[in-house]
Amino acid sequence: MSLREQLCEYGQRAVEQGLVIGTSGNLSVRQGELVAVTPSGVALDRLTPEMCPIVDIEGYLVEGDLQPSSETPMHLAVYETTGAQAVVHTHSVFGTVVASTMTELPPVHYNALLLGGVVRVAEYATYGTPELAANVRAALDGKQAALMANHGGVTIGATLEQAFEATRLLEWLCEVYVRGLSVGKPTILTDEQLAAVIDRSLNPPAFPRRTT
Ligand SMILES: [Zn+2]
Repeated sequence: MSLREQLCEYGQRAVEQGLVIGTSGNLSVRQGELVAVTPSGVALDRLTPEMCPIVDIEGYLVEGDLQPSSETPMHLAVYETTGAQAVVHTHSVFGTVVASTMTELPPVHYNALLLGGVVRVAEYATYGTPELAANVRAALDGKQAALMANHGGVTIGATLEQAFEATRLLEWLCEVYVRGLSVGKPTILTDEQLAAVIDRSLNPPAFPRRTT
C-alpha cells in the first residue's frame, strides 16, 4: 500500500472507531525524507489518495493540491526527534477528558507500558503553532504517546498501523481511568509492579512438553 493509501485506510478506521469526528484529527506516515499527511479541512473518511499532500521533512510541499493539515509542523517536529515513521493525532473523547483535567495519565493497567508507562500531558498552546509542536515533542520524550492539554492525544509508531494501535490503546487506558474515577479511587501500579511486568514479558515461562 502506498503512503497515501495508508492514510485513507487508517483515516477510515479512525472515523469508524469513533476516534475522530468531522475534520478533526490528522495522520502522517514517513518514508525517507518525505511525509504523506492528511489534508486540512477534509473528513478522514472522505479521503482519496490524491487528496493527501506530500511534504518533505523540512515542511516544503512536494506534491498535492490541498493544504497539509494545520498540525503538520507538530508531526514534523516529532519525526525530527523520535525516529518514528508514523504519527496519529486525534481528539478522542476520553483522551481529551484526561488532557483537560490532569497533568498525566498514571499507569492503572500494565498495558500502559506499551506506551512507555506514565503518559504526560503536554502544556497547552494554540493548535498548529511551533510552541505546541515543542511542547508535544517534550512530552513524547521516551514515550509512544502523549496527551495535549485541552486538545487531544498523539501517538507514534514504526508503522502507521503501530501508531494507530497506540492511539486505540491510549484511548482505552484513558477510558478505564476516567470510568475508574467515577467508581472509586483507581489504584496506580507501582514502579516495582511495572518492573515485574517487564521482567515477565522478557522472560516468559516455557510450558513443559509432555513426553510420556
Ligand atoms: Zn488537534
